[in-house]
Amino acid sequence: MQSEPQAVLEDRFGRVVDYLRLSVTDRCDFRCVYCMAEDMRFLPRQQLLTLEEMAFLGQAFVSLGVKRIRLTGGEPLVRKNVMSLIGNLGSLRGLDELTLTTNGSQLRNTAPALAAAGVRRINISLDSLHPERFSAITRTGKLPQVLSSIEAAQQAGIERIKLNSVIVRGQNDDEVVALVEFALARSLDISFIEEMPLGDVGCRDRQGGLVTSEEIRQRIGDYYPLLASTESTAGPSRYYRIAGSTSRIGFISPHSHNFCDSCNRVRVTCEGRLLLCLGNEHSVDLRAVIRRYPQDMPALQNAIVNAMALKPERHYFYHDDKPQVLRFMNATGG
Ligand code: SAM
Ligand code: SF4
Repeated sequence: MQSEPQAVLEDRFGRVVDYLRLSVTDRCDFRCVYCMAEDMRFLPRQQLLTLEEMAFLGQAFVSLGVKRIRLTGGEPLVRKNVMSLIGNLGSLRGLDELTLTTNGSQLRNTAPALAAAGVRRINISLDSLHPERFSAITRTGKLPQVLSSIEAAQQAGIERIKLNSVIVRGQNDDEVVALVEFALARSLDISFIEEMPLGDVGCRDRQGGLVTSEEIRQRIGDYYPLLASTESTAGPSRYYRIAGSTSRIGFISPHSHNFCDSCNRVRVTCEGRLLLCLGNEHSVDLRAVIRRYPQDMPALQNAIVNAMALKPERHYFYHDDKPQVLRFMNATGG
């Protein structure tokens, strides 16, 4: 009889890693101003892990006690044949949850297949409800497309949909309450994210644009009393509820509220680089292991277990006032 996977991914600080964010591509059909430079260069395709290699990697993590996998990118739904990976990962024994973070551009057509593959939760990014502003923030995105995707995902029976909004001063900070009301009206969850200084995206004053979670919480609180909740979805969001609604209002506060003590996550980039922390460059090249020892599960498991010794205690986004993480968010896997 096969035994249950053991939780063996523990770092030097006693934190157990049971959550993997896997970036399936660095490519994207949007160019969000806080995520990418306008003239972004993407990786040559041969540098990416194949979908089969990604499935093997997922299998290795689950065998080591990982319970949740979130697919991200770049835009995960622009990777050709990504549904085959989703099908493979969705059938892994021991995996409790397979989720996805998407910009919603392609979701209208893929939502039924995702639901059929067992995806029950999805995060959809939405920073503005004004069509022109939405297009300005995403540079290439169209708001109606994303709104119809949200509807399609609900109709397909995806049980929990969470909107992710990066709030930036002078860009969309006047929309916080409208975004909450949009979520409440549709029984969606929503998380507000503080912008992180990942990669050089050109002439942006990232620090000057920062709107802290506390400020956003107060603004919402002026209209809707927020009740603190102890709920967690395995990610870094802290949640609140509004009386009479099923929606959860979350705050992801990498600047103002360090969540590193309870970090249970690692990331793998689309090139197979295992990142131990969002805000540091510590990493291990798992693609080299997979390609040197093809189909050798123990070799891959060993590499992952040994990598835990590299997980830093906490993130430091700035060093001497300069951003110290050179990767772009689409390369990190948000
Ligand atoms: N393309 C998908 C999307 O936008 O949902 C998935 C990848 S995207 C990198 C994941 C999340 O990271 C999105 O919610 C996006 O808003 C967020 N994000 C991107 N760059 C960020 C930054 N510099 N700081 C904070 N959040 C960021
Ligand atoms: Fe693409 Fe997501 Fe980055 Fe926007 S945040 S550019 S949608 S990867």
